[in-house]
Amino acid sequence: AMYAAKKVPGTVRLHYDCGMTAVLVDGGQLRAAIDGDHLRVHFQPIVPLGGGRPTGVEALVRWQHPEHGLLTPDVFLPAAERTGLIVPIGRWVLRTACHRFAEWTLTHGTAAPASLHVNVSARELREPDFAGFVAATLAESGVAAERLVVEIAETELMQAPAPLTAVLADLKALGTRISLDDFGIGTASLTLLHEYPFDEVKLDRSITRTAVDGRPSMAATVLQLARALDLHAVAVGVEQARQADRLWSLGYPAAQGYLFARPLPAEELAVWLTACAQV
Ligand code: C2E
Ligand code: CA
Ligand code: CA
Repeated sequence: AMYAAKKVPGTVRLHYDCGMTAVLVDGGQLRAAIDGDHLRVHFQPIVPLGGGRPTGVEALVRWQHPEHGLLTPDVFLPAAERTGLIVPIGRWVLRTACHRFAEWTLTHGTAAPASLHVNVSARELREPDFAGFVAATLAESGVAAERLVVEIAETELMQAPAPLTAVLADLKALGTRISLDDFGIGTASLTLLHEYPFDEVKLDRSITRTAVDGRPSMAATVLQLARALDLHAVAVGVEQARQADRLWSLGYPAAQGYLFARPLPAEELAVWLTACAQV
């Protein structure tokens, strides 16, 4: 058997042969995590590949589980989507991230990142007046709309039952930017690029990984496409210096990955920003 299931109160743990432990969660536990203030937002810097201070940060949700430790979204977002709890979670993430971002602008001035990237799913975008909620959150936190980049995964847009054209137009009208996430792994990329008002594409991690091998580079193809459509491009998942070098020589302006920084709790990101400002 690939794994053996063992019951622990409230959760099922799957012990994989490789030593990984997966935690299956249900809506009740997720609700308790929201109400019990167990969710966290970590922030990963986006850096210019030519060097210099970070241009942006991406907000990434975490669950500080009392028993299992810090859980990444792959463990609990599927349940959140299934139960609809992604809506309150997403709202909490946006609000928390905006408040933190506003603080860094005060404490770090020009060394603070210029843009805040937040992930949203199609389910969230379909909520009535999603753009109204975003506008209210920006106003309440004092973050200018141009600072916010809403990231939507390619697969989310492709699976959405009704086109999200109207809500994306509303977000654009507010002044926020829109980024096409996980770009390059779907099959309807071209259609999407023409259908929606994107400002940026984020190269999927799996394509970043292939940027160094000898084969004709998909990373290069994606960049040419981005340039032709006048879109900013960010390579996600850069782990090695040789990947960064290759992406820079291809012409990628910006990247994100463990090579530069892992997703960090807000307090650690503030320290990181201070260190960046000093070099
Ligand atoms: P994503 O939007 O593609 O985010 C990038 C993921 O790659 C993050 O995983 C990040 O920690 C990871 N990553 C960054 N650099 C590297 C690297 O150099 N190497 C490797 N191996 N990984 C790297 P994370 O934080 O586990 O998030 C997974 C996904 O969950 C995100 O993928 C995003 O689709 C979703 N997600 C995260 N936070 C939220 C949220 O607040 N709302 C929604 N709707 N989705 C979220
Ligand atoms: Ca993202
Ligand atoms: Ca991804």
